Amino acid sequence: MRPFEPLERGRVGMYNCGPTVYDRQHIGNLYSYVVVDVLRRTLEYFDLGVKQVMNITDVGHIVDDADAGVDKMAIGAERAGKTPLQIADAYTRLFMADRHRLNILDPQVVPKATDHIPEMIALIERLIAKGNAYVAADGVYFDVTTFPGYGTRLNAEAPDQRIAGARVEVNENKRHPNDFALWRRAKAGDLQQWDSPWGRGNPGWHIECSAMSMKYLGETFDLHSGGEDHLFPHHECEIAQSEAATGKPFVRYWVHVRFLRVDSEKMAKSKGGFLTLDDVVAWGYDPLAFRLLALGAGYRTGLDFTREGMNAAQSRLERWRRTIGAAYAATKGRVAEPEGEHAITSEFRAALADDVNTPKALAAAEKALALAAISDTDEQERALWMLFDMDRVLGLSLRDAAATTDELAADERALFDQREGARRSGDYAKSDELRKELLERYGIQVKDTKDGTRWERVGRKGA
Ligand code: AMP
Ligand code: ZN
Repeated sequence: MRPFEPLERGRVGMYNCGPTVYDRQHIGNLYSYVVVDVLRRTLEYFDLGVKQVMNITDVGHIVDDADAGVDKMAIGAERAGKTPLQIADAYTRLFMADRHRLNILDPQVVPKATDHIPEMIALIERLIAKGNAYVAADGVYFDVTTFPGYGTRLNAEAPDQRIAGARVEVNENKRHPNDFALWRRAKAGDLQQWDSPWGRGNPGWHIECSAMSMKYLGETFDLHSGGEDHLFPHHECEIAQSEAATGKPFVRYWVHVRFLRVDSEKMAKSKGGFLTLDDVVAWGYDPLAFRLLALGAGYRTGLDFTREGMNAAQSRLERWRRTIGAAYAATKGRVAEPEGEHAITSEFRAALADDVNTPKALAAAEKALALAAISDTDEQERALWMLFDMDRVLGLSLRDAAATTDELAADERALFDQREGARRSGDYAKSDELRKELLERYGIQVKDTKDGTRWERVGRKGA
């Protein structure tokens, strides 16, 4: 395996193929974005500055391949009785909200395809001028015979073999059956169409990603990701048209996420039935338990989603929260960076450096948790520091777990009970004094409500 070296020292440009926003994103889609989020966080953990770009495909591309079949945006729009942009907007919002529930960081740039039609047209013009694309009766096509090795850059299998068994619509306008559309002339009733030198129409799906990635990251950039279904044709087409246009290497490292399967079955939204994060939450799971489940699988293996797996992830998350909460209470919210790099942190870093091996990284986190469970506050302070440090990559909100723990340490509990006693016996002066003491000494805010006494860890002043 090749070590990762960015083009520019200390900085990484990363492009993630984003969603087609004609429907909800299912947990398979979301899983692929958890994986790239962990990748981004890993690079940042190793002190690299990451510029992350994720597009929003709000132009209808096709269900089967880039130039035959039905327009996805049109399907979604028709179903909802809304315009394509209205549904694109609504589903983009839901997608971003799902991402936030999973602690997926926002990319710095989230370009929409519909805002980049001029860039796509310019790229197509470049390809025509160089003889790599031709104008046909129904649009503009990329001539794959002008790009040696087309379709074999990411996979040794020749595209002819790969698509031999697939259903390919014969299109007489193409010079070669593997040629793919860069621009499609509008058909009557097309909801999304723009002016171009080749008449009104809309761009092919592949050209969107080439145009937007190169606009924000340059003609050669470091990382490009997508699900395994994007290997071919999407990414092979992106490589062909980008490199043909610029004469430069397009992407230095590709990341393809193996699919999430539900009970070992492929889950495709074009098939109809699929699971959303809302379904998972409605079953009573924490969205972060789904994130933890995702972390437990290597991105090259893919994730087998089952209820048993979710149950295990939920219990694991709760156990982590309890352990961290109790340790945090024991240390009174103190954490301490170990002197020199702790062996557990080294193990964690080595796991991430090894092709982002998250299952191994979780094993290191479990060791820190075991340390946090030991009743020795010095060890606990160090364990907490390590866990919060790891959480920069894991993204499980472990600090929140610590602050909202429902556990009080023994001395806190004693003071709390003493105050409860004073309040019940009507000694309000004493009860107020003890309330103040709980806040000042332990950072615990006590509130008397009609349902009884509640407390919250708000932190000590100056701590
Ligand atoms: P789409 O909205 O269909 O373009 O998909 C968005 C992203 O999710 C793409 O990168 C797909 O490759 C990826 N994807 C689709 N289905 C799955 C799945 N079952 N598991 C993981 N990733 C998926
Ligand atoms: Zn793409």
